[in-house]
Order: sequence, then C-alpha cells, then structure tokens
Amino acid sequence: MILVLLGPPGSGKGTQAKRLSALRGWPQLSTGDMLRTAIAAGSKLGLEAKSFMDQGNLVPDSVVVGLIAERSSQADCKNGFILDGFPRTIPQAQSLDQMLTAQSRRVDKVLLFQIENEELVKRLSGRRVCSNCGSMYHVEFSPPKASGVCDKCGSKALIQRDDDQAAVIEKRLKVYQEQTEPLVKYYTDAKKLKTLDATLQPEQVEENLLKMLS
Ligand code: AMP
Repeated sequence: MILVLLGPPGSGKGTQAKRLSALRGWPQLSTGDMLRTAIAAGSKLGLEAKSFMDQGNLVPDSVVVGLIAERSSQADCKNGFILDGFPRTIPQAQSLDQMLTAQSRRVDKVLLFQIENEELVKRLSGRRVCSNCGSMYHVEFSPPKASGVCDKCGSKALIQRDDDQAAVIEKRLKVYQEQTEPLVKYYTDAKKLKTLDATLQPEQVEENLLKMLS
C-alpha cells in the first residue's frame, strides 16, 4: 500500500502516520522530519532547507523529490509506505507518479485531512515537540504529565518549532492554500482521494482512517 496523507500543517497527518505505521508496518516517510534531521546534522542540504522552512516557504521540489526517491527505494518500503507531507505541489505529485510508474508501482490512496484554519492556528501555536525523541504535546489539549518533561523519554527539552511561531503559521497556511490545495483536484481526478474529518479526537480519526483503508 502506498498511501498519501494530504492536509494542512497541524491537521494530524504525522500523528496518524505514526499510529498506522505501528499497526501495519509501513514506514512513515515525512519530508518535514527528513529535512529537520538534515538541519540537526548540519548538512549542506539542511542548511539550504532551513532558510525556506524558517520563513514558512516550501523547500525546492528537486530537494524533496530527491529525498523521497532515495528513501522509498530502501528495502523496508518494499511492501508500501505512508507519505506524510509529500507531495505538496503538483510538480512533486507528477514526479512521484513518474518515479512509481518506472517501478511498476502507483499511489493507491490519498486521504485528505479536512479542518478549518482557526482550529489549525490553535493547534500549531500550542504545539510542543520533544527535541530528544520527537514526541508531540499541546500546552492545552495534551500537555505532558509533568510540566515541561517528556512522558516518553524524560527529557526536559520540550520546544516550540521555529515554524510554529504565529507569523510563520500564517504563511504556512497561505502556502498550503496556494501550492498544495490544487492536489485535491489532481487526486480527485485520479479517483484516489477520500476525505477525513480531522477535527475529531485522534482515536476517532484513526478508526475512520482504518475503515477507509479496508
Ligand atoms: P512539516 O513538518 O511537514 O510541516 O514540514 C515543515 C516544513 O518543511 C515545511 O513548511 C516546508 O518548509 C518543508 N517541507 C516539508 N515537506 C515539504 C515538501 N514536500 N515540499 C517542500 N517543502 C517541504
């Protein structure tokens, strides 16, 4: 199964990708995570990507297409994978189709996470991430048990992502609307798109998502 999770930043794609990956064993391929790893490693690619990301802009198509081409060719992706945050532009979707066609594969399903901007701003501005293990929290909706301490690994490094600052959030939502939303038509025309109500609790979203896959 090659599954695309499509939706604005903060709609819960990453959370659901992790849950589904644990359940079905398909790796989660998140271009955002790959880019943040490259930044943390101080690589040339990371340095190039950081300036785009800090301003809420998309990283050039060629960079992310290269990352996905390399990662999806690894052995653990043989039985399928979950794309989280890719593709984000029509050229990326076209490159993905070309790449998969060359391997006699194709995107099987695209799930659109539907949610209003007002809710996204609340979610993103309160989001905190453990910089040690990547666990996600929200200051209001899902705080850690002990304030400022990661439930999972005990680290005290719960941080706000640079691109979760108010001004950048606004830009990211605008970029989504202008550059990523056209993919809704692209995948509707390809008869691959199904829509999920992403305002529900994560457990309910997961249940609905699993029903859509069966
Ligand atoms: P995310 O963690 O998916 O919200 O991504 C964080 C940032 O990484 C985005 O705002 C973009 O700057 C960059 N990024 C992630 N995925 C892509 C992509 N497919 N195309 C271009 N830029 C991306």
